[in-house]
Amino acid sequence: MPLIDLKLHANVSELMLYMKCPRQVYYTNRDHELAAEITPEYLEHMILKEMAIGYSDAIERASIDRVSILDELNIEMERVKGELELIYSTELRNLPHRVLETAEEVVSEHIGMIASNLSETISKYGKEETIRRIRPYRTEPVLHSDKLKLTGIPSAIIQYEEKILPLSIRTGKYPDSGVWRNDRIHIAAIAMLLEENYGDSVEHGFVQYARHGSIREVKIRPEDRRQVLKIRSRVDSIKNGILPERKEVTACSYCNFMHLCTTARSSLASRLF
Ligand code: SF4
Repeated sequence: MPLIDLKLHANVSELMLYMKCPRQVYYTNRDHELAAEITPEYLEHMILKEMAIGYSDAIERASIDRVSILDELNIEMERVKGELELIYSTELRNLPHRVLETAEEVVSEHIGMIASNLSETISKYGKEETIRRIRPYRTEPVLHSDKLKLTGIPSAIIQYEEKILPLSIRTGKYPDSGVWRNDRIHIAAIAMLLEENYGDSVEHGFVQYARHGSIREVKIRPEDRRQVLKIRSRVDSIKNGILPERKEVTACSYCNFMHLCTTARSSLASRLF
């Protein structure tokens, strides 16, 4: 299906945006752009994501001790430094080099902790299993299902015990245990798309918290799938013109829609959301 047609359906990033703020879904579907300012935090996100794609290669080259993993991660960091401006050529055009260097320095400070946590995971599960959990089979594949009325482009999918599973690469903080609710919904949405695209059941997936080098398994529950469908139909309603209720959320403090976001909810929205 051509990409232009895929836009008719909700996509998984809109589901994630809905969980952050339903009104942002409304405005972004009405020719307003969410400002994607290249902040130092955004650059860190880019660097960590590219680093994480290479963690499995670093582990494969390393012996199981922390120092060896640390050395290999530093090599990955050098690879990312060389490739980042080639991969994100549009976003990083005209960015002062010093800003990029500062973000690289911040990420470098995390490498010691990433090596420790990956080394712990290898001690617990073994090198082969750790690699299997995070080695991308494909990066950023376009997944679509007419039946689900959903499209998604996950950061990566993996091949694990004859199955294709979702791998979510997250660059923010990690919870003490398990995964954040948003990450659970994201994994479930991608799992459902994989089932439709590959014709096989998907019962679990993995979230890789790149900043910490932590890999968490997620078992997908029926309730997660229910939530995906519920949020998708709310996103559909918003795209069809329902302005959702305005809620004060963390994102309000830096949202560029603030000047638009003044009206109260519609009476229909109050019944739907
Ligand atoms: S100002 Fe707050 S409620 Fe309004 S769109 Fe932005 S984040 Fe959402």
